[in-house]
Amino acid sequence: MTISIEFPDGSKKPFDEGVSVLDVAKSISTSLGKKAIAGKFNDELVDLQRPIKQDGKLQILTAQDDDALIVLNDTAAFLLAAALKSLYPKMHFGEGHSTSDGFFYDTDNADGQVTVNDLENIKNKMQELVKANGEIKRVLVDKADLLKEFADDPYMESLINAETGVQIAAFQLGDFIDFGYRALLNKAGEAKIFELLSVAGAYWQGKSSNPMLQRIYGTAFFKQADLEADLKRRAEIKERDHRTLGRELDLFFVDPEVGAGLPYWMPNGATIRRTIERYIIDREVAAGYEHVYTPVLANLNLYKQSGHWDHYREDMFPPMDMGDGEMLELRPMNCPSHIQIYQHHLRSYRELPIRIAELGMMHRYEKSGALSGLQRVREMTLNDGHTFVRPDQIQDEFKKILQLMMSVYEDFDITDYTFRLSYRDPANTEKYFDDDEMWNKSQSMLKGAMDDLGLDYYEAEGEAAFYGPKLDVQTKTALGNDETLSTIQLDFMMPEKFNLVYTGEDGKEHRPVMIHRGVISTMERFIAYLTEIYKGAFPTWLAPNQVEIIPVNLDLHADYAQSLKARMAAKGIRVKVDLRNEKMGYKIREAQTQKIPYTLVVGDQEVEDATVSVRKYGSEKSTTEDVNLFVDAIIAEINNYSRT
Ligand code: ATP
Ligand code: ZN
Repeated sequence: MTISIEFPDGSKKPFDEGVSVLDVAKSISTSLGKKAIAGKFNDELVDLQRPIKQDGKLQILTAQDDDALIVLNDTAAFLLAAALKSLYPKMHFGEGHSTSDGFFYDTDNADGQVTVNDLENIKNKMQELVKANGEIKRVLVDKADLLKEFADDPYMESLINAETGVQIAAFQLGDFIDFGYRALLNKAGEAKIFELLSVAGAYWQGKSSNPMLQRIYGTAFFKQADLEADLKRRAEIKERDHRTLGRELDLFFVDPEVGAGLPYWMPNGATIRRTIERYIIDREVAAGYEHVYTPVLANLNLYKQSGHWDHYREDMFPPMDMGDGEMLELRPMNCPSHIQIYQHHLRSYRELPIRIAELGMMHRYEKSGALSGLQRVREMTLNDGHTFVRPDQIQDEFKKILQLMMSVYEDFDITDYTFRLSYRDPANTEKYFDDDEMWNKSQSMLKGAMDDLGLDYYEAEGEAAFYGPKLDVQTKTALGNDETLSTIQLDFMMPEKFNLVYTGEDGKEHRPVMIHRGVISTMERFIAYLTEIYKGAFPTWLAPNQVEIIPVNLDLHADYAQSLKARMAAKGIRVKVDLRNEKMGYKIREAQTQKIPYTLVVGDQEVEDATVSVRKYGSEKSTTEDVNLFVDAIIAEINNYSRT
């Protein structure tokens, strides 16, 4: 029998039925036969030995193709499992395969879990398999036989049982067998350029009620240079990652045993946060906002009335049944609280816009897999504000909020962001309440305002809040994920639900429009973001410790150091004296790793001349400065929010 194979350029050629992908590649050219890594038959990845038994489209993959990297990383995952199996015969295996960022395998070892210290040994075992260059064969195995093979492995058993069909496509290298891959390289030796990266806990099937497995991560490439570039990129990410820096600079910690997604702020992190909180409150008060405090708990009825219970329940903590019929709910948003403040007095058209703001703590039950350091947490404090405006004031208020946002960004030196207009997804009637006219009106109003301002933006369906469209400011995390930082949201719905009114010029009741806005997001996400853009070197005004004084000799210069500290502290500068019995060089180096903006060294000369020897963070040099001049300069720097 002859079959017809079509190539990506549209040409067709006849072949004998059952021809292998490799033979097809060879028939095109000898060099393609050599370069071929795998194939894509009718858009499915297939390995080179795979016989083709029907007409269809075939693309031969070489190292140039992105999909070839999938096959390579799947092969590396397979070899990792093979190596583990020979090192730890009793090990159980969860899932393992390539990802967009390398490969991984989940493991559970009764005789002691794998740790990062074992990676070298595991890697050596994999290299042995690579050197032996055995053949990796695709085999069709009866499900029953495969179940026998993994008889004592509960995870594998459940993965096998999840497969449909009596026969399962597996891959075999010597005695080792594994399944779940679309295509692998046929020679173990072709997966020689790889690295094992790390080990981290991962719940079986991503559910926190399931056992925790150890996930081993790795990455593989066809060229050594590509691997090296990737490792360098990963090192840079790690260096910027706020979770790494948060630990090194002692800013915060999250302990899943005490509560996943519930951060503890250490004194250093708390100082940064307090400084930012004071800053933003001052800016908002100056911009006409009235700051309030409202409770994190309220009667569940409040969130039924607001629509949160119907449209946002998945993200909420379950209500607390107080036993006497009262149900209390931890708030997932502050809007209903600020509505209470608005409603507490009669409001007239002359007072509008009314701007109510709060550093409002809220709780959201984020999925455990989505939690990440301070970036995504379950308890957070939002720089929240709601402005209540007359319909004719929407445009103007929107612009004012944007201006405030941009001016705040300037103070923090935030320059890398994009605007996203977030609309509803009309098909998602579960999340978005049903009022076409309202959605069309508010979406086109937002778009109009952005066009008027001449700002660039992109549009995203399905990203709106349940009550209205928004303008989101998108930034990138060190890991390359897009996250929303600031947001401005138009809302015609809540004012209806709560029957909000103001008295108009005509003496009649009118409906205000609500604008929800967060300028610097939650304290958690904002500080995660700042930590990453500054790489932990906070500008002086935000740095937890702004000045460190190091006496050359503890006996001779400690008093002078202490008196300097008192002088500076009296002016509000955050200053420490290092009185530990350590070498001076060590202390200076440590002040640098703690990224303290100014290190002052004081010895005989400085005491005599009333000077300080100043070394700025990141600089190798020090300069001698008059104490008064130094203090004036640092205070000016703090007041200007300078970054240099
Ligand atoms: P996201 O899409 O990031 O989940 P959202 O659209 O649900 O956010 P909003 O209800 O608009 O968020 O919340 C206001 C702001 O609070 C967001 O713009 C974001 O910056 C921040 N934020 C939201 N969820 C979290 C969280 N789990 N941890 C930290 N900050 C958060
Ligand atoms: Zn709100």
